[in-house]
Amino acid sequence: MGKKKIVKKGKKKHINNPTSKKYSKYKIEGGKIKRELRFCPKCGPGIFLAHAENRFYCGKCHYTEFVSSEKKVN
Ligand SMILES: [Zn+2]
Repeated sequence: MGKKKIVKKGKKKHINNPTSKKYSKYKIEGGKIKRELRFCPKCGPGIFLAHAENRFYCGKCHYTEFVSSEKKVN
């Protein structure tokens, strides 16, 4: 008989996940809420589009919106 490997089951090590920084995307100016980023048209309000070099990207539904920039045209 070989030795049985005992796999310990139990508590998982708790990892502190970084808090969502959604709140930092809001700014209150003159009693009104100003948003710095745009919302995803697919996911609706609450889901921000990440701003990439020349496009906005939704991390949830992978929606990508290209920003028409006239900086570089190759
Ligand atoms: Zn989305």
